[in-house]
Amino acid sequence: MERDVEPLSRQAMSLFTDAAESFDDDVVALTALIALFTGVRNYTIGHIHADWFNHVNGALWMKVPTKTPCTKTADDTICGDCNQNKRGGRDFAPKSDAGGGRRLKIPESWHNKHTDTESQQDLSLRSMIEHHFKLEEESHGNMLLGGKGLSKRTVNKYVKAVAEEADIGFFRNNGYVQHRDLGRVPDLFPHDLRATYCVQLARNDANPWKMCKRTGHADIESLKPYIKIASQEIEGDFENSFI
Ligand SMILES: [Zn+2]
Repeated sequence: MERDVEPLSRQAMSLFTDAAESFDDDVVALTALIALFTGVRNYTIGHIHADWFNHVNGALWMKVPTKTPCTKTADDTICGDCNQNKRGGRDFAPKSDAGGGRRLKIPESWHNKHTDTESQQDLSLRSMIEHHFKLEEESHGNMLLGGKGLSKRTVNKYVKAVAEEADIGFFRNNGYVQHRDLGRVPDLFPHDLRATYCVQLARNDANPWKMCKRTGHADIESLKPYIKIASQEIEGDFENSFI
């Protein structure tokens, strides 16, 4: 990805979420929603394992491990993405120390505290995860997304498939895109969804410390652009200029 990351607007986020929720391929849908609502990196998404999930006090949590043997090596092939991950040395390892070991609550609804007039919107992400991995049963269903885990390339492809369905991601103007041009591949990457997750935390007044903890950013400085976007939206001088 050559351009800077660009978060989705509230409107584009809604379109993307709706498209994912109704997408006819469950694995594509699940991949897209995980990217948007957990903010984990493409590489991490591909390695998500049934064992990362835990029910605590009625909620579903996902724990991103620290350096650990690649979860995709069940058939003795080395995962190409881990092979290229110098940091992990053929193991799975999140990009930063701050990224490993973090626990993320899987949301069951979402909203924007300041700009939404309607209340929380339900999200089927939790039930989709429980169903895909059969978390309620002793012997799990899939251990990895889609059975064998996903390559970064495949995660990119799935995100674009949902973006296409949502009619977003073709032309960008500060991250706000509504126009669809048939024949063009949507310009939307998992990292834009991670950026959206960061902005969404700021939209709902998460404090910077909490944002670092959730997103695996090592320092507050790198979160400032997202906080700025959210505060501009709240002031109303950002979203209006794109409608
Ligand atoms: Zn791997």
